[in-house]
Amino acid sequence: MLVVKVGGSKGVDADAVCEDVAALAAAGARLVVVHGGSHETNVLSERLGRPPRFVTSPSGHTSRLTDRPTLEIFEMACCGLVNKGLVERLLRRGVRAVGLAGLDGRVWEGPRKSAIRVVDGDRVRVVRDDHTGTVERVNAELLGALLDAGYVPVLAPLAASYDGEAMNVDGDRAAAATAAALAARELVILTNVPGLLERYPDERTLVGEVARDDLERATRLAEGRMRKKLLAAGEALAGGVARVVLADARVPAPVTRALAGEGTVIA
Ligand code: ADP
Repeated sequence: MLVVKVGGSKGVDADAVCEDVAALAAAGARLVVVHGGSHETNVLSERLGRPPRFVTSPSGHTSRLTDRPTLEIFEMACCGLVNKGLVERLLRRGVRAVGLAGLDGRVWEGPRKSAIRVVDGDRVRVVRDDHTGTVERVNAELLGALLDAGYVPVLAPLAASYDGEAMNVDGDRAAAATAAALAARELVILTNVPGLLERYPDERTLVGEVARDDLERATRLAEGRMRKKLLAAGEALAGGVARVVLADARVPAPVTRALAGEGTVIA
């Protein structure tokens, strides 16, 4: 059982990822694909005249400010364009791909953050009307039924709150929760950098391995979105996943390379 998270950032080679997923699926792997959609969401937001806004929490995590109209744009871009783009690419390669959002059938469920604290200059401010949350529960029964029938679920990072509201969730952390719930041995997180870089953006400074006990120290190297990936990696390991690999999705056979240890291996 393998969970592959495909980043939604610029530069990710969706064709290469799907080609590789198809080869692994044909070889009998049980696979779940989780994707992001940050780049497509930004592009669509601009086109619709609502430029994206980002906020940083007091602990240093950056996230998209998601009011209701932003949530709807996120749904269009992520559950629409990105999800169906991946499903189509997989179907064309003979994979029985099923695109779902984590919202569907409550694949992903958790609390909605009704208020978030954000850094505003040298003050901390509370923002309400935010439609984001975290995944606490994974509907392993539904995913298991699809996997048992030979389907490859492709999941967009929209989850259900416990009250059934749609909410934007972090794809990396949702992938980690999924890998843990399905007792996956490995979680591969693909993005547009070769892995964790000691001195971002210098790609020659790739950190090849991070021991579990060193994760906190490694997190201090990372900024912005890379931090979430390390947080997700820690959560996956805590949930029983043996190995998490952060790797490049701009190269041919990105999943196979990651499984072979190319990237940042966290174990
Ligand atoms: P995705 O959408 O693919 O999940 P993100 O954009 O969320 O990817 O996260 C990857 C980004 O993290 C990189 O493109 C890079 O800009 C940023 N980053 C920050 N610090 C680091 C670091 N130390 N090493 C690698 N990437 C980093």
